[in-house]
Amino acid sequence: MANVYVFLGPPGAGKGTLGELFCRDSGAIHVSTGQLLRDEMAQGSDLGLQVKDLIARGALVSDDIVAAMVAKRLTQPDIKAHGVLLDGFPRTVPQAEMLSTILAKSGDVMAAVLLIEADDAMLMGRLTSRRMCPNKQCEAIYNVQTNPPRQEGICDRCGAALIQRSDDSEETARGRLKVYDEQTRPLVDYYQGKGQLVRMHSGDVAVDVNYGRLKAALKR
Ligand SMILES: [Zn+2]
Repeated sequence: MANVYVFLGPPGAGKGTLGELFCRDSGAIHVSTGQLLRDEMAQGSDLGLQVKDLIARGALVSDDIVAAMVAKRLTQPDIKAHGVLLDGFPRTVPQAEMLSTILAKSGDVMAAVLLIEADDAMLMGRLTSRRMCPNKQCEAIYNVQTNPPRQEGICDRCGAALIQRSDDSEETARGRLKVYDEQTRPLVDYYQGKGQLVRMHSGDVAVDVNYGRLKAALKR
């Protein structure tokens, strides 16, 4: 019987970093659906061949296929021994219902669904902090919060004026947060209703402080 964890959180809240720390600390295996898809394709399994065919035709990989891959991965001994942090599944309520069916069959338990919350201002700051050097011979990347150039707006290496890509613009960031919010709210309500949701606040503080909050949240 394995403990299953799911972390939900907006882009910029540190979900990836916190998940990595959690897995290192607890021994839980990090399983992302993207990696599962690549592994199945690389192995040439029946599922992998179906996925390859869908992708080649530009079609979406259905919930059924993703659920089948997750179900298969959960039977493996490393997960039975150490537990698992699922990344990328479930994203929707129908997927959450599929996961619930999978766990009922496999005998594994949903240990917690952790909702990582953060202030919009912090998220916007993080999502819009990247700057690039437009010089094709240089292409240095900066971050105005964590890795700023010595002189504001100027590349340290070549002196070119730094630019902000449209991916990192306020408009794109707002769009990403809105999509996250719309997709995730029903899932939050679903797990709240099942009494499986725990919450933590991710702040603009050292990573280990946020990680301490995560551990405290999971203990509750
Ligand atoms: Zn440069």
